Amino acid sequence: MPAEGSLPQRVTIREVGPRDGLQSERPLSLGDRARLIGALSRAGIPKIEAVSFVSPRAVPAMANAAQVWAAAERAPGVLYSALVPNRRGAEAAVEAGGFHSLQGFLAASDGYNTKNVGKTVQESVADVADVVRVARGAGITAECSISGAFGDPYGGDVAPERVADVASTVAAAGVDGVSVGDTTGMATPSRVWRVVELLRGRVPHLRLNLHFHDTRGTAMANVLAAMQAGVTEFDASIGGLGGSPFAPGTNGNLCTEDLVHMLVDMGIETGIDFDALMEAARVAEEVVGHPLAGQVAKAGPRWDVVGRNG
Ligand code: MG
Repeated sequence: MPAEGSLPQRVTIREVGPRDGLQSERPLSLGDRARLIGALSRAGIPKIEAVSFVSPRAVPAMANAAQVWAAAERAPGVLYSALVPNRRGAEAAVEAGGFHSLQGFLAASDGYNTKNVGKTVQESVADVADVVRVARGAGITAECSISGAFGDPYGGDVAPERVADVASTVAAAGVDGVSVGDTTGMATPSRVWRVVELLRGRVPHLRLNLHFHDTRGTAMANVLAAMQAGVTEFDASIGGLGGSPFAPGTNGNLCTEDLVHMLVDMGIETGIDFDALMEAARVAEEVVGHPLAGQVAKAGPRWDVVGRNG
C-alpha cells in the first residue's frame, strides 16, 4: 500500500460541466447556462471551462457562447477557459474577452478525430497551432485536450506511446498544458500509470490535467492512481453531467462533488466550498430537468452522517 505521504496535499479541479457536461443535453436557455456557471463560480472551483466557441450546427447546445458568457456571474480568482476548435473559434473567444485560457482539442487517434471533427490528427495539429497563436496574441494561456486517449471505439486501441507522441506534437506547437481525456471510459489504473510515466519522460514541462469518464466505473480509481503518480489536476463535471442524453442517470464525466467529497475526507485540499458545490449540483439537476449520476448528492456527505470529526 502506498504511504499517505506519497499523495499530493493539494489538487486542482477544473470544472467542465457547463461545457463538456451540457453539450450532450438538449439545448438549455442562455439564462440557465449562465446560472450554472454562476453557481459553480460561487463554489470557489479554481478553474471552470465555461463555454465553447464551436459551430452551433455541430453542437446546438453550445450555441450563443458569447451571450452566455456575458450573462454569467464570475468570481475573482477563478480561471475561466473556453473550448475552441480553430482560429475562428479562438478569435471569437478573445473578442468575447475575460478568458484566462483557450482550450484547443484533438483526439489521440485518427479514428476518433475523424469521427469528431472530420480531420486527421495531423490536420488538427494545425488548428491547435492557430489557437496557440491567437492566445499568445491576447496574452493568455493555451492548452489542448487530447481526447480518446485510452481507447478508440472507431479505430481500435490507443497505445500509451501514441498519446505521448501527440502530446509531444502539440507541445511543439506551443501549448502550455494538455488535458489527457479518457473520453470513452476505457482507462484503468495501470494504463494511467503507463501514460503518465511516458508523458513525464517526453513532455516534462507541460502542465498535465487528466479527464476521466466513469462509463465503466473506473474514474475514481484512475484519479487515485494518477495522484499516486504525482498528477495534481483533474477535470470533473458537476453532477456527473455529460452522460448519454438518451440514458439519464448513467455515468459519463467524473462527478465533481463525488470527487471533492473523497478528497476532503482524504485531507487533500481543493479550495472548494463543499456546501456551495452541493448547491451547484442541485442547480445542475434543476436546469437539465432530470436526475444526474452524482452519488454523494443522493447519499449525503459522510460527515453529515457521522459528524465533521467522525
Ligand atoms: Mg468528458
